Amino acid sequence: MPNSFEPASEIQDYLVFGEYGEVNPSINDSSTYTFLNPATMEELFDHEIEGCFLYSRHWNPSNKYLAQALAAMEQTASAQVTASGMSAIACAILQNCQMGDEILASRTIYGGTYALLKNFLPRFGITTRFVNLRNLAEVEAAITPQTKLLYSESISNPLLDVANLPELSKLSQAHGLKLMIDNTFSPLMLTPARHGADIVAHSLTKFINGTSDCVAGAVCGPKNLIAELSNVNHGASMLLGPVLDSFRSASILKNLHSLHIRIQKHSANALLLAQTLEAQGVRVHYPGLPSHIDHELLKSLMNPGYGFGGMLVIDAGDTATGNRLMELMQAEKVGYLAVSLGYFKTLFSAPGSSTSSEIPADERQAMGLSDGLVRISVGLDHNMTRSIERIQNCLKQVGLL
Ligand SMILES: *Cc1c(COP(=O)(O)O)cnc(C)c1O
Repeated sequence: MPNSFEPASEIQDYLVFGEYGEVNPSINDSSTYTFLNPATMEELFDHEIEGCFLYSRHWNPSNKYLAQALAAMEQTASAQVTASGMSAIACAILQNCQMGDEILASRTIYGGTYALLKNFLPRFGITTRFVNLRNLAEVEAAITPQTKLLYSESISNPLLDVANLPELSKLSQAHGLKLMIDNTFSPLMLTPARHGADIVAHSLTKFINGTSDCVAGAVCGPKNLIAELSNVNHGASMLLGPVLDSFRSASILKNLHSLHIRIQKHSANALLLAQTLEAQGVRVHYPGLPSHIDHELLKSLMNPGYGFGGMLVIDAGDTATGNRLMELMQAEKVGYLAVSLGYFKTLFSAPGSSTSSEIPADERQAMGLSDGLVRISVGLDHNMTRSIERIQNCLKQVGLL
């Protein structure tokens, strides 16, 4: 094993007692908090006082509990939770960049983040160049004195590319940039901060919550960034206000405590499916397969014991076959044709070409970016052999087996 680090044990070591000694901390059902004297209130407007709460948009105890557990998981000094993954990403970017600044981002990022960087932030003078992160020389050549942030996902759409975190960190440090990583696809499996990431963002909506019943996000990072985000005078989360409801924080925290077991099962099921289909000649992209371009890189970066993750891509060749395959898989009760990931049931969708439109046609072809990609978030199925048989039936019906 490349290292003996176990983030799950960090979470297990993290014991919090509720107000009355409850094992699940009390859900804090209040938008505002009383002060015994006006002087303390004045002081709190100046700076955060540990354990002292002002107003729920600023902080509330339930959000603190979840944020602290996420910081422990991501090995960062601090964290903040937000009402969606997108608001976490947007607030962290806005806190770090201002008019005139540039961002360098991978071309293969989540569609919402891509749209934020490409269409929305330029209205405020923050511009982004999309680069091929595999080509470090290209990345370095794109850095200008205005560049502030290097942005990537740890494992990204559509082909499950793995970011070379140590190299990207070296580059960021050499040029005084911040390295921001979206770790939504690989919680626990990868700890980007250990490999030099400065800011780690999550959509909690996916694996971390795992029950597809809410939308939420988090920013994990150094203390000063998290304090800045909630600053009453100039904090992006305080002033834009994407506060997570405390009932949701509490339910996500409870789900977080089974994440290590779920990731292991998602990974084991995905690996079995990937190996079985590849052996039968189906074109599969899965970073746990030696045929995946980043297999060795992921092995060198990942935390042992969690596997290679629950995301897998089947290349059906063309859009019509991909669509037919997904319809059949839903009819055969393999899972749901739905966007999102990390649910206990299998979910599948076509990643589409929107987020890859920056990539020139010849490169798309060289990368294996076909129109018939079907992305599968493999569920927690107990009888995976039966599920694989169902998928094989569907593949036969569309002529891929
Ligand atoms: C879903 C997702 C997001 C956005 O998160 P929301 O919770 O839907 O706002 C960001 N990044 C990645 C990689 C995602 O999968």
